[in-house]
Amino acid sequence: MPAQLLSLLLAASVTLAPTLTAPPIVGLNAQDLHDTFDQTRGQGRHEAIDIMEPRGTPVHAVVDGTIAKLFLSKPGGNTIYLFDQVGEFCYYYAHLDRYAPNLREGMHVSRGQVIAFVGSTGDASPDAPHLHFTIFKLEPEKRWWKGSPINPYPVLMHLLKMGADGISR
Ligand SMILES: [Zn+2]
Repeated sequence: MPAQLLSLLLAASVTLAPTLTAPPIVGLNAQDLHDTFDQTRGQGRHEAIDIMEPRGTPVHAVVDGTIAKLFLSKPGGNTIYLFDQVGEFCYYYAHLDRYAPNLREGMHVSRGQVIAFVGSTGDASPDAPHLHFTIFKLEPEKRWWKGSPINPYPVLMHLLKMGADGISR
C-alpha cells in the first residue's frame, strides 16, 4: 500500500467514532436523547449527554471492557470510567446513586451488564436524577483522567437506529 494512502487511512481512523454494543439504559429511545455536548455548563462545555431517568434505574456497560476507575468527584458524584477491551475509548458515567454490588476497579464487565444505578450525586439537582454520560478517546498512555471528548449523542442515535438487542436485563 502506498505510504500516502496508509497515512490517510490512519488519519481517518483517528476520527472514527466508537461503536456501542449496548445502550447505557435499557429501553432508551430517540426522544430521551438531546444533544447538549456544546452547551455551556459552569466553567466550560458540557461535553456529555444527560439522560433523565428515575433514581435507581439500572445503568449498563455499553461495551465489553474493564472498570478502569471508580471515582468520587465533587461535580460528578459517584463516577465510573469504563475502558473498552483495547483501551481505545473510555466511557464515563456520572451522578450515579450507587455502584452495582461487587463492582471493582480492574474488573472485566460484559456489554449490557448492570454496573450502577441512576442518581443525583455530585452537583446534580436532587429533583432531577439523570445519567451524565460521555466518551473519551484515550491517549497512548491510557490514563483514565485524560482524553479527547467525543459527542455521545450521534453514537447513541446510531446504536438506536441499528437496534440494540442482546441486552442482559
Ligand atoms: Zn451532564
